[in-house]
Amino acid sequence: DLVKLIKQTVMKLDITANNKKQRLKFSPNCEELFAYFDFDRIEQVLLNIVTNAIKYTEDSGEISIDIQTQENEALITVKDTGMGIPEEDLLRIFERFYRVDKARSRELGGTGLGLSIAKEIIDAHNGSIEIFSKVNEGTEVKIRIPIEERTV
Ligand code: ATP
Ligand code: MG
Repeated sequence: DLVKLIKQTVMKLDITANNKKQRLKFSPNCEELFAYFDFDRIEQVLLNIVTNAIKYTEDSGEISIDIQTQENEALITVKDTGMGIPEEDLLRIFERFYRVDKARSRELGGTGLGLSIAKEIIDAHNGSIEIFSKVNEGTEVKIRIPIEERTV
């Protein structure tokens, strides 16, 4: 259940966000959404994406998570109002160890592996991950995972 997974992720990161006076918004319009996926791995992906949103967004910013179905896929969107990623870096963001602005990134900590691992995990699920961003406006990550129709 992807809704359950996101709720769990939000709970785990709530304190981290609150420490920066940020609000994690998740108000799904479905109670559950079933797909065939590796729960721990996709949780690892979401933990990284939402941690990035928290880390690269100023205090009091807003982070919203959304889930919807689109044809045979679940579409998870994580949106922040943070510093954004310059266009020239967007092309390389999924490379191992790639980080925008070395000095700034070192200050914030991290290895630059999160997104490359996320992409490998999503690819292994036959899904896709895309990032849209504008400097000083924010970043939007879209994750698509195939779903099976269930007739309980
Ligand atoms: P870690 O391995 O701990 O995840 P990291 O967060 O630096 O380290 P990635 O998650 O792969 O590594 O992200 C790569 C780089 O992309 C980051 O260093 C940051 O410069 C940029 N980035 C990622 N997400 C965002 C975001 N939401 N807003 C702005 N920049 C981002
Ligand atoms: Mg990261």
